[in-house]
Amino acid sequence: MSVQATQANMPVVLLKEGSSQTKGRDAQKNNIAAAKIIAEIVHTSLGPRGMDKMLVDSLGDVTITNDGATILKEIDVQHPAAKMLVEIAKSTDNEVGDGTTSAVILAGALLEQAESLLQQEVHPTVIVNGYRKAANKAKESLKDLAEQVTTNDKPSLLKIAKTSMQTKLVRKDSDKLANMVVESVLAAAVKDGDNYTCDIDDIKVEKKPGGSISDSSIIQGIVLDKEVVHSGMPKKITESKIALINTALEIEKTEIDAKINISTPDQMKSFLNEENNMLKTMVDKVIGTGATVVFCQKGIDDAAQHYLAKAGVLTVRRIKESDLTKLAKATSARIVTNLDDLSEKDLGFADLVEERKIEEDRWVFVEGCKHPKSVTLLLRAGSQRVVDEVERAVHDAIMVVKDVMEFPSIVAGGGAPEIFAATKIRNWANSLEGREQLAAEKFAESLESIPLSLSENAGMDPIDTLTTLRSKQLKGDSWTGVDVMKAEVSNMKSSDIVEPLAVKNQIISAASEAACMILRIDDVIATTKSAGPPPGAEGGMPPGMGGMGGMPPGMGGMPDMGGMM
Ligand code: ADP
Ligand code: MG
Repeated sequence: MSVQATQANMPVVLLKEGSSQTKGRDAQKNNIAAAKIIAEIVHTSLGPRGMDKMLVDSLGDVTITNDGATILKEIDVQHPAAKMLVEIAKSTDNEVGDGTTSAVILAGALLEQAESLLQQEVHPTVIVNGYRKAANKAKESLKDLAEQVTTNDKPSLLKIAKTSMQTKLVRKDSDKLANMVVESVLAAAVKDGDNYTCDIDDIKVEKKPGGSISDSSIIQGIVLDKEVVHSGMPKKITESKIALINTALEIEKTEIDAKINISTPDQMKSFLNEENNMLKTMVDKVIGTGATVVFCQKGIDDAAQHYLAKAGVLTVRRIKESDLTKLAKATSARIVTNLDDLSEKDLGFADLVEERKIEEDRWVFVEGCKHPKSVTLLLRAGSQRVVDEVERAVHDAIMVVKDVMEFPSIVAGGGAPEIFAATKIRNWANSLEGREQLAAEKFAESLESIPLSLSENAGMDPIDTLTTLRSKQLKGDSWTGVDVMKAEVSNMKSSDIVEPLAVKNQIISAASEAACMILRIDDVIATTKSAGPPPGAEGGMPPGMGGMGGMPPGMGGMPDMGGMM
């Protein structure tokens, strides 16, 4: 529908036919409701006792996970405000790796609390200002609470990796996996002044269904999910000299249509010989450099394979570009595009290149590389879905260990820092003048949604838990949180439940930014291409949104927006 205003009896048409507009309080209500639904979906999966979700995509592929970012990615949200929550899960995943569910829950809680303030006629701008100040206060107080760790102190890093994995399906095997994760990050970390930087691209993660999670292993080097190209080639080369080629070892087809007329068998023979000779020259160039292993990004002709096999060169073809880059870094080889450029100084080194059997496949292992930073985590589990979830858990764990290596501060888990910050904010809020005080108090209440969800998911009484937590924290037990496994309120340090401060800061920033952004919207204008219901209008809502006042009746004449406009 188009928006029309009547000016001296002349209708002014601003929007295209088919566009929709929701204004003022209705727009806010609508956006808040959508965001709350998203938070509602993920809240049951928070913490070690959280439930998993089974997600089926349009092709029928099933994903089972409790990872916030993955859940939201898979459910393909339509509503524009809900999409913003999906985005904060994504950005949290990229920035710090863990805490995606928490960020979404916190944003949902902030909006829910804001709704009650809006009903009391507190202006959105006031709420936004109050929230921003409270978010800064929360981060400040967490900074005071946080403890420094030595960046390469393995026991502390193990605790952090294990806390992150506690909440995933891999909990039972978290000892072994955490060890692998910490070793890999330590291997990849580079000291930079007093701090470390860690490029997680140095850590390659390969997964293969079969066996059990405990069969997973760490390989000091690179694993390629490809086999040696020719059966006549050696399957194991020690002290290997490695050539990396990103051009095909084949005769190039000409771009123009050319015709060759062959009239005698001799001509045919010499034509084929010529082709063979060209391939042999190519292979000779490679062998001439002293290479004993060839990794090629493109295809390799049968004849070229034969010559390489005859020369005893272990060759793998069709390697992914990303893997070739990793190999270049690991073995100090240079990737060569033009074979004429290939020389001995372009070769890389590894102590061992070997083909090994992984279930029904054969994979090539490159171990003892010149650059010891490259490691591969080879993940195993009973089925594809489980191994996928193991990969996600390992990703989170790698990221949290990296976070602490780069920013060595930790806080407790189990909702302890959230309660701590909430208590601090409540005390400080009284010093604020005006209605921002109310917003700051609501911010504190929203932070408590994390321990609340943790205890709820653990089947504990949320009210009792929260009151016990508050009173213990007020007495100064700042590491008191919800021990979900024992279903009690206790000191998180003694149960080794610790998390990076960087994750908590990211959760607070991402959630408050998204909430503030949504609150500041008082007009949703959607243009549509088709005649179907526009997103944001009734019918375009996600399930459960019906009746949330998608479009107020009679959009032409706006309903009274009260103090909202
Ligand atoms: P997210 O995606 O936000 O990381 P998780 O499902 O991983 O969500 O849950 C993280 C929350 O679980 C954190 O607040 C963390 O402190 C808490 N947690 C992890 N292990 C425990 C535990 N054993 N007891 C209590 N809380 C825990
Ligand atoms: Mg987590």
